Amino acid sequence: MRPSLLDPLFAPVTTLPGVGPKTAKALDKLMGDETRGARVVDLLFHLPVGGVDRRPSPTIVDAPIGGIATFSARVTEHRPPPPGKGKAPYRILVEDETGDVTLVFFHADVRHLLQTLPIGAYRIVSGKLELWEGMRQMVHPDRLLDPAQAAALPAIEPVYGLTEGVGPRVMARIAAAAAEACPALAEWQDPAFLARSGFAPFLESVQALHHPADLKAVEGETIARRRVAYDELLASQVALALVRRQQKKSAGRATAGDGRLRHAIASALPFTLTDGQRQALADIHADMEKPERMLRLLQGDVGSGKTVVALMAMAAAAEAGRQSVLMAPTEILARQHAERLAPLAQKAGLKLALLTGREKGPGRARVLEGLANGEIDIAVGTHALFQEGVGFRDLALAIVDEQHRFGVHQRLLLGSKGEAVDILVMTATPIPRTLSLTWFGDMDISILAEKPAGRQPIVTKAISSERHDEVVGAVGRAVDKGAQVYWVCPLVQESDTLDVAAAQERYDTLREVFGDKVGLLHGQMPGRDKDAAMAAFVAGETRILVSTTVIEVGVDVPNASVMVIEHAERFGLAQLHQLRGRIGRGSAASTCLLLYKGPLGPVAEARLTIMRETEDGFRIAEEDLRLRGEGEVLGTKQSGSPDWRIARPEIDGDLLAAARDDARLLIERDPQLESERGKAVRSLLYLFERDVAIRLLRAG
Ligand code: ADP
Ligand code: MG
Repeated sequence: MRPSLLDPLFAPVTTLPGVGPKTAKALDKLMGDETRGARVVDLLFHLPVGGVDRRPSPTIVDAPIGGIATFSARVTEHRPPPPGKGKAPYRILVEDETGDVTLVFFHADVRHLLQTLPIGAYRIVSGKLELWEGMRQMVHPDRLLDPAQAAALPAIEPVYGLTEGVGPRVMARIAAAAAEACPALAEWQDPAFLARSGFAPFLESVQALHHPADLKAVEGETIARRRVAYDELLASQVALALVRRQQKKSAGRATAGDGRLRHAIASALPFTLTDGQRQALADIHADMEKPERMLRLLQGDVGSGKTVVALMAMAAAAEAGRQSVLMAPTEILARQHAERLAPLAQKAGLKLALLTGREKGPGRARVLEGLANGEIDIAVGTHALFQEGVGFRDLALAIVDEQHRFGVHQRLLLGSKGEAVDILVMTATPIPRTLSLTWFGDMDISILAEKPAGRQPIVTKAISSERHDEVVGAVGRAVDKGAQVYWVCPLVQESDTLDVAAAQERYDTLREVFGDKVGLLHGQMPGRDKDAAMAAFVAGETRILVSTTVIEVGVDVPNASVMVIEHAERFGLAQLHQLRGRIGRGSAASTCLLLYKGPLGPVAEARLTIMRETEDGFRIAEEDLRLRGEGEVLGTKQSGSPDWRIARPEIDGDLLAAARDDARLLIERDPQLESERGKAVRSLLYLFERDVAIRLLRAG
């Protein structure tokens, strides 16, 4: 149950003084969702987007011209419009000992003006001060106050995002009312952290956000914003820590091998493992040997060698007599994994099988049987592996490859299958550290920071598509020297059909030049044709593979050393990096040609520049984040994504890291959040509506 102390915050906005049904309706549009209207808490976290400086100038001559000016003056004269000129404005002169200002009112309510600005009265005047024909004037002052009310004029007036039907003054008033309605809450922050950070209590901080002390306070960083941002980050990290604990709790079997199969595989490899691979495997094996469920993210740039890490982990499970699955995002990739891993698995005496939606009939039945009776050690496939009707004798480990599009939510689903399997997610798209903490805060992380030795840098060039013929010539020379070439055609308006047509057309024109050295691969080909096209390229029978972005993820043909990307300006940075990662995987020098059609917009230009400058996936990810923003970096805005109100995880990286550590420690020490601080943290979870966490706590 939500602590009743929070009730005023979760009440409808109509509970605030001066919010009637009409205003409430307008606010619902701005802050409500399908299930509920605007609540006080929504206003509380509706922070100012700017501020107006209303600090008074000592005299009229000191008041800034052209900006908002505030000063006190005496009313000296009323100048009604001349008779017959009804549309001319009503003017009122005010002055102090240094100068005068004409206040100008159009369509004036004269009676009201006579009442509020009687001659001889002193007033505080605030509004935009201008020069008009050499005279100071102010059209429709924003504020006219009796000096006795001076305190009612804030030095800095917050400016809020508005919605139709709620003007700036109303919004400011009701936001202040929401801040007023906020109760004082027990402290949920770690006392030592609080003392170090100099943060004020929550109530004081959130109120300060609505009553900024100076302009810097609304425009930039303030300690009050950081405090509330930290609160939000802590809520989300506590939620992730609870999810993580829940997933671990549902496991409970240690999987420990004796190293014999791993040893056999290692000695069959044509290379030795990198330090990074060794370390990642040490992390993974340590996790698997614990009687808790593993939840680990293996983060490694394209070409860093994640596949062999997966194989070794699966071998460890097999040593313990248990099964594993490796799930790939596409058919092609699943097939390729199976083909590449099968010989190594065989050398170690492991039985590996492929299962995708395309395995049908007796073949499929045999695989299902082998999985059920435990004959098959390793299953490689697509999401078909997790469909109903697929049962395992003893599944120990599930590895999900190249799934950066997997959110927290999907992982919850994977875990809720009820199987106490260890989970390893391998992501190829490097995710900036700050984001990996928000998105994968429930997981442990291993990073393959370096690529295997002996790789040569990829030379990347941006070339105008007007030079198409030169590019074809260069491709021809590369092919003559024995290279293999990917030729990537872009998405055309996100349409599969047009997409395919473009690839087909390029295939036809290249075929005129290079004959049957050219192959074609696209998403609408029947599965068997796709396999055949890929196999012909892998075998070197075709030397140029024209494709749509189906090769984006994971495919590994080390001999391919040239890539041409058409309309590179249409691709996002992460996608370009993924594509380019298909080359530079062997020992030969590689070249990537980014063909663009000008003129380029600034963002497209920036992307191509970054691609030319660096191959560092982490840097590219950071730049991508800068150019695009958080949601897009991880693919579509996904369910389970934290919805930030105050915090900006990409900026508040230091706070995020601290919140993560704090959350983990807290949950470790007080798993049910029953201590005094734990109870306060519960109300924090309610305050920021981390529903997953609340459900888990209720479930106990
Ligand atoms: P990714 O991390 O992108 O999935 P892969 O696992 O496909 O990368 O590996 C890329 C290439 O590097 C493969 O051809 C693989 O055989 C090779 N490779 C992996 N580990 C090593 C290593 N330690 N030394 C040399 N080559 C390696
Ligand atoms: Mg891979």
